Amino acid sequence: MDKCSFCGRSRKDVKMLIAGMEGHICNECVEQAESIVKEEIKNESTKQLHGLKLKKPGEIKAFLDNYIIGQNDAKKFLSVAVYNHYKRLLQPNTKDDVEIEKSNIIMVGRTGTGKTLLAKTIAKMLDVPFTIVDATVLTEAGYVGEDIESLLTRLLQSADYNVENAQRGIVFIDELDKIARKGDNPSITRDVSGEGVQQGLLKLLEGAIVNVPPQGGRKHPDQKMIPVNTQDILFICGGAFDGIERKIGNRLNTRAVGYGAKRGIENIDKENLLQYIAPQDLKSFGLIPEIIGRLPVLTHLDPLNREALKRILTEPKNALIKQYTKLFKIDGIKLTFKDEALDLIVDTAVKFKLGARGLRSICEAVMTDAMFELPEKNVKSFTVDKKYVDDKISNYSMKKLSMS
Ligand code: ADP
Repeated sequence: MDKCSFCGRSRKDVKMLIAGMEGHICNECVEQAESIVKEEIKNESTKQLHGLKLKKPGEIKAFLDNYIIGQNDAKKFLSVAVYNHYKRLLQPNTKDDVEIEKSNIIMVGRTGTGKTLLAKTIAKMLDVPFTIVDATVLTEAGYVGEDIESLLTRLLQSADYNVENAQRGIVFIDELDKIARKGDNPSITRDVSGEGVQQGLLKLLEGAIVNVPPQGGRKHPDQKMIPVNTQDILFICGGAFDGIERKIGNRLNTRAVGYGAKRGIENIDKENLLQYIAPQDLKSFGLIPEIIGRLPVLTHLDPLNREALKRILTEPKNALIKQYTKLFKIDGIKLTFKDEALDLIVDTAVKFKLGARGLRSICEAVMTDAMFELPEKNVKSFTVDKKYVDDKISNYSMKKLSMS
């Protein structure tokens, strides 16, 4: 008679007996095996968490220095916040202990100054699941757009649906400024993409168990939701907050003339007001105070000047120039860029206000012909000088560049 090969019970003693190649398994043993597997996976990820090499803030910053030029303030704030966050996760749960609160982060800085790169690099260093979501696609449930929970769908996907791992991942929410309330007054009409979304986001930032649609979106209404606890997920938000400088300026002005003003207005660096950003500026911009409270680490990114752009071209571990050099080396060609060539590339990025992101498209415009022709020619070396850059750039439709 057929018996379960695991518990030995016969068919009549169990609800179901599943036949395998050389034996059988009963429904109860299936369930038990499932829970063993789950427990094992959980232990595994706890072990992984403990195996997480918790680097000291200085080491985290040093790692970031390999990839990101400048932005010392942001790097420092980020390193400490990340260090504290993972230190908090590694704390055993003791009830009467001081509870360390989550240190979600908000970075304010012009587009293309390295916010996403910072968040990405942190996640790479920690080797935790990471996802980038754009706040502009989020809307309140019931409206066109994506539900707020869908933001965790991506995280789950990047963790291969391992919930335990996802629960200690990092979510980068880009363009947070786009869900600011328009105007300072709470509106009477519903603000679909503003305050409502902020309220929804609040729950996630605070830490809650959220039912996440594994496939995302609303296209699959029948999917089984996966509960995800956001308690230990680190949220890093970024935004350009266009125009916030004016609010910072106004605040500084009033304070500078007020009684007991510490910083004379003349000492303020008007070129980079973002460095003085304070939580109240985010409030005047239209973030609700609860959200600001849940993003306790506020830091800024500096605008990138010529010098920074040039360093970005050559210094980071995966700097563009290093990448081209490597590509050519594979073909046995020694590629050299003259300093004047680099200057012209940088000047073009500045001239067309393309920022760091534009460096790539300019380099492509400069290098494509060489990459197309040289592999078939028998050359051992190739030097890019100012004239070469100039020729290539003027041939290339600048319209294309300014659109990229
Ligand atoms: P943001 O998120 O602030 O809009 P990104 O981080 O996406 O900007 O930056 C765009 C690209 O520009 C990056 O992928 C990187 O190549 C380059 N970049 C920007 N800022 C820096 C920086 N400070 N150091 C190195 N590269 C940078």
